[in-house]
Amino acid sequence: MHNRDCGRSAGSGVDRLMVNLPPLPRLGDRWALFLDVDGTLVAIAETPEAVRVEPTLLPLLERLSNASDGALALVSGRSLLGIDTLFRPMLLPAAGLHGWERRRADGTLAPIDKPAAVLAPLRPLLTAFTAPRPGLRLEDKGGSLALHYRLAPRYGAAVCQRAREIAAAEPRLRLIEGRKVVEFVPRGSDKGKAIGEFLAEPPFAGRVPVYAGDDTTDEDGFAAVNRLGGLSIQVANPEARGRHGSAARYRLPSVASLRGWLGAVAERLNPGHTFANSDRAERQSSGAR
Ligand SMILES: [Mg+2]
Repeated sequence: MHNRDCGRSAGSGVDRLMVNLPPLPRLGDRWALFLDVDGTLVAIAETPEAVRVEPTLLPLLERLSNASDGALALVSGRSLLGIDTLFRPMLLPAAGLHGWERRRADGTLAPIDKPAAVLAPLRPLLTAFTAPRPGLRLEDKGGSLALHYRLAPRYGAAVCQRAREIAAAEPRLRLIEGRKVVEFVPRGSDKGKAIGEFLAEPPFAGRVPVYAGDDTTDEDGFAAVNRLGGLSIQVANPEARGRHGSAARYRLPSVASLRGWLGAVAERLNPGHTFANSDRAERQSSGAR
């Protein structure tokens, strides 16, 4: 793991300017698209709740989903509920909590292990640490616990140190050091594993996997699609200073540039059929009247 927020690297700021554009699909290519949310499809905000979904994003995702015959999934650190709240009324296949929970393309939920036992002792520990430090925010996602220091970066070093102590004492926990956040998730799942599970099911099976993400937790996703002969795309983190050794083979400079590239991908994958699902939805709603 490599993380500049927890002070493990520093650099010149030149690296984030390096760009390596991913190719567009060729005619007849069948792609399965896996997309991280925060820092990838939407810009990071002060708090997870403050993130805004711009009006053009939902139509873009709908075009991509249609163009890939439904082989588009969101793969996020947010819970499924958090993902659905953000993209309402759209319900896409999705992996939440860094791959711990997963909704398949047919809408069913993959079975999950209960994380309660391993997380329960952490709540009082993290609450005690957070209470005397104004600006720290403990987010209880049910299946994981995240401690955000975006609003109080002066506590960053202390947060990272405390988090590592806690993680070292509990081997069943995985510590994810993200962008101004540390997060404890039960071991046994990650974004790469979730992508592999999607690829064993329709409509993802048999397609070339493409994964785009921006953070440390996305490295599992990059490694998985690299192994499977797919495309791994890192969206540059504007807060990062210096190189951070990503496994991603391609690199785009911003959320906006990724969205531009995704728009071109949708056109290439299925030109002329991009509004099939909206037509179907319209027919269904008019038939119901
Ligand atoms: Mg992200």
